[in-house]
Amino acid sequence: MASDPNCIFCKIAAGAIPSRKVHEDDEILAFHDIAPWAPVHFLLIPKEHIASLANAEPRHEALLGRMMALAPKLALEQGCEPYPAGGFRVMVNTGAHGGQEVHHLHLHVMGGPRPWAKG
Ligand code: AMP
Repeated sequence: MASDPNCIFCKIAAGAIPSRKVHEDDEILAFHDIAPWAPVHFLLIPKEHIASLANAEPRHEALLGRMMALAPKLALEQGCEPYPAGGFRVMVNTGAHGGQEVHHLHLHVMGGPRPWAKG
């Protein structure tokens, strides 16, 4: 599985940097964002190093689908209220214009009662 020794999320996926885990399986890790925008704010990452959504390849389609399908399940487990009165936001910042700071593909999942700190 591709890994980048200089990537902070690869280090988190490898357990070399601690995180507050929400979910882990063979391919995917979810952990709380260190600087949450919302009462619930966690990140879903592939364990494989994919620099951004723009770098995803056809072979990643199933993995991306699994990440999207996990988001609502984990959001409810983490305290987001059910759709439609509650719900959550999924955000994938991609590249400089997309506001991406960490260059390892990640889904932000944010929810909980408003107002939020940002967004
Ligand atoms: P983005 O701008 O989409 O690349 O967002 C990167 C996110 O990663 C930000 O919301 C950061 O707060 C979060 N982040 C950075 N380092 C860590 C870390 N060590 N543990 C958890 N979240 C982190």
